[in-house]
Amino acid sequence: MTVPFLDLQASYFEIQDEIESAVLSSLRSGRYIGGPEVEMFEQEFASFVEADHCVSVANGLAAIHLALKALDIGPGDEVIVPSNTFIATWLAVSEVGAVPVPVEPNVDSCNIDPDRIDAAITSRTKAIIPVHLYGQPADLAPILAVARRHGVPVIEDAAQAQGARYHGQPVGAHGDIVAWSFYPGKNLGAAGDAGAVTTNRADLADRIAVLRNYGSRERYVNEVQGYNSRLDPVQASILRVKLRHLRKWNERRARIAGRYSAEITNATITLPHIITGAESAWHLYCIRHPRRDELRRRLAENGVETLVHYPIPPHLQNAYAGMRHARGTFPIAEAMADTLLSLPIGPAMRDDQVDQVIAALAAE
Ligand SMILES: *Cc1c(COP(=O)(O)O)cnc(C)c1O
Repeated sequence: MTVPFLDLQASYFEIQDEIESAVLSSLRSGRYIGGPEVEMFEQEFASFVEADHCVSVANGLAAIHLALKALDIGPGDEVIVPSNTFIATWLAVSEVGAVPVPVEPNVDSCNIDPDRIDAAITSRTKAIIPVHLYGQPADLAPILAVARRHGVPVIEDAAQAQGARYHGQPVGAHGDIVAWSFYPGKNLGAAGDAGAVTTNRADLADRIAVLRNYGSRERYVNEVQGYNSRLDPVQASILRVKLRHLRKWNERRARIAGRYSAEITNATITLPHIITGAESAWHLYCIRHPRRDELRRRLAENGVETLVHYPIPPHLQNAYAGMRHARGTFPIAEAMADTLLSLPIGPAMRDDQVDQVIAALAAE
């Protein structure tokens, strides 16, 4: 039997009737841009993450990009990013013409190391973007403290963290702006691309709402050079249905993670480390192994699908060859790329599938 890495189809069938009736009513409404489905999703998501404002956008990359635009960040500016992240965090910075300045993660948590941020700040630093990688909140208190000391705003990349909490409060408005992706594979995923920002700052919510819609508040009146980056009502209707199931689905992820952490006892495997005060959304469950590729091959032979998040850190991607960060510049990120392995996890994963993963690892 094959254990899929993430079975999106099984999750779909679990709530098929609800989704299909929501999609049909959205199609029949005659509203295909904006309108009540989009507005209601924004309200419901803001309330779920306990933020004052939610502005939906086209995808997660656009959410980070528009957050940077709303803060007037552009050419000549520097933005602090983790050295280990999905490339979108860096791309959003490059897209506004600013320079991504990588900071290494904490070896245990895999999230940006707050103690290394201060040394990376210069007079050109205009924002810090912690990423809540694999669903675990970055250590926000010391990050916000260092940001405040330097008067620099914080944009959280929460693409993987729907439902995560930090010191009891949901990820959603700790920093100045929080960027979300609803890519299908995320904990809350659409049937296509979708994204949003949440914030407690009305001024920033307003700027992003204008930027996403051609820089226009009133039709055919353009205040700024904006973009077309809107959430479709059909996707909003799907997200509204799935949001109602998110808590339960995250609990299932947490249960699987709990079993892995308790029952994987192989001494060569390093389990994920969750910092005090953080509640992970368990988007991914990433172990470490010194001979990762071999382990991955043998798990595949035993029917266990795994993935690597991520095999090449952004600074070693050809896309960033122009920055001339040689191999060895960010050794922690590089070691993570060589040793991390993501095990199957998801709301539709059955107990016997979890058993199979644990048994396959025990045989190592
Ligand atoms: C998925 C993801 C993004 C980008 O989201 P898209 O909706 O695919 O554009 C950004 N950052 C992180 C950490 C992600 O995992």
